[in-house]
Amino acid sequence: MIVGVPRETYPGEKRVALVPAVLANLAKAGLQVLIETGAGTAAGYPDPEYSDKGAKIAASRAEVFAQAEIITQVLCDGANDKTGHADLPLMRRGQILLGFLRPLGSSQVLQELAATGVSSFAVELMPRTTRAQSMDALSSMATMSGYKAVIVAADTLPRIFPMLTTAAGTITPGRVLIIGVGVAGLQAIATARRLGAVTSAYDMRPAAKEQVLSLGGRFVELPIEAKDAQDARGYATAQGEEFYKKQRELLGSAVAGSDVVITAAVVPGKKSPVLVTQDMVARMAPGSVIVDLAAERGGNCELTQAGKTVRSHEVSIIGTFNLASSVPYHASQMYAKNISSFLLNLVKDGKLQINEKDEIHRETLLTQGGEIVNARVREFVGLKPLSGEVGVK
Ligand code: NAD
Repeated sequence: MIVGVPRETYPGEKRVALVPAVLANLAKAGLQVLIETGAGTAAGYPDPEYSDKGAKIAASRAEVFAQAEIITQVLCDGANDKTGHADLPLMRRGQILLGFLRPLGSSQVLQELAATGVSSFAVELMPRTTRAQSMDALSSMATMSGYKAVIVAADTLPRIFPMLTTAAGTITPGRVLIIGVGVAGLQAIATARRLGAVTSAYDMRPAAKEQVLSLGGRFVELPIEAKDAQDARGYATAQGEEFYKKQRELLGSAVAGSDVVITAAVVPGKKSPVLVTQDMVARMAPGSVIVDLAAERGGNCELTQAGKTVRSHEVSIIGTFNLASSVPYHASQMYAKNISSFLLNLVKDGKLQINEKDEIHRETLLTQGGEIVNARVREFVGLKPLSGEVGVK
C-alpha cells in the first residue's frame, strides 16, 4: 500500500507528517511512502533523506493524492481552516486520511469532508489508554507547546529565570505560574524549573497536585472544589460561570506575584474559561509576560488576541498558537512516531484492516462512506446515532 505525505499548506506550518526514521518500520509492514517534494524541508528533513530510506518523491501534490491509498498530514481540512479545503477535490471515496481534523469543530466542514467519501481518522480522538499512548499526537504536540511557551516567555521577559549569586550582586529567581496542568502545563513546569525559575501551578483537577509536586513545582491550592472535575477520559469538565468567577478572585494574588504566567486550561470542544482578567493583568509588574496556550479557543486571559502578541498595562500577552510548529524537527519526529504506530495498528499483512471491535479504530474513525460515523462527534454536532455502523455507541 502507498502512504502519501503531502506538504503542509497551513500558513507558516513547518511540520511534516512522517520523518525518514520511521520509513523502515513502515516498509516492513508493506507500506511504501510517497512524499510530495519538499514536504519535509522546513522541518529539517530534505528529500534525499527520504529517498535514502526508500521513499518515492512525487513532483506534485495531485500525484500524491492520486497514487496513495492512505494520506497522512499534520493539519488536514478542519484543523487547517485556511487552505485545507483545497485538498477535498483531490480525495476519493475509500481513500484513508489520517491527521488532525478538529472533529469537535465546525459541523459544516465535517460534512464536506464526509461527502468526499474518505475514511478519515482524527488523531484528536485517540483514546487515553496505555495501548494508545504511542499514537497520542495531541499529547506529543502539547509537550512541544508547553516547552516552547516557556522559552518564548523567557525570551520576552526583561529578567532572567535563575537565581545568581555573583560578585555583581544577587539576582532573585523568576517566578512562573502555570494555570492548567495538562500535558502542556506539565512540560511548561519542567522547562521553567530547568531554567531555574520558582515554579507554581494550579489546576482544578485535584489529581494534578501530585504531578505538579513530582516535577518540583509548588501547587497553588484554592479553597474551591469543581463539581465532577474530570470525566471518564481524564479531561476537565466545563464548570458554571459562578465557579470561574470564584477562581478568578482566588487566583488574583498568585497572578500578580508572577513574572510569567503560562495558561493552558482547556475543556475539549468548549470555549476556554477566562481565568485571568484585565484587572489581574494590571496588578502584574511591568515587563511581565503571559503566554496563553488556550488562545485558539478564546484564551484564558481576557486580553488575549489569537495569533498576536499584545501589550497592555506594560504586560506582554502572547496569544501565538501552533507553537509545536515552531520546533518542527522534534515535533515532526514525535508526530511521525505517533502516525507510524497508528498505521502499523491499522495495517496487517500489507492490508488495511479497520476493526470496529478495536477501540482505537472505533473512537478515531470520523467519516466513512460519505457520512460522519463517529458516535461522539455525531452527538456533538447534533446528528442522530447511526445503527449498525462503526462508531456507534
Ligand atoms: P487538556 O489539554 O484537556 O487541558 C489542560 C488542563 O486544563 C487540564 O489539566 C484541565 O484540568 C485544566 N483545566 C481546564 N479548565 C480549568 C479551569 N477552569 N481551571 C484550572 N484548570 C483547568 O489536558 P490534557 O493535556 O489532555 O491532560 C489532562 C490529563 O490527562 C492530565 O492529567 C494528563 O496527564 C492526562 N493524560 C493522560 C493520557 C493517557 O493516559 N494516555 C494522555 C494524555 C493526557
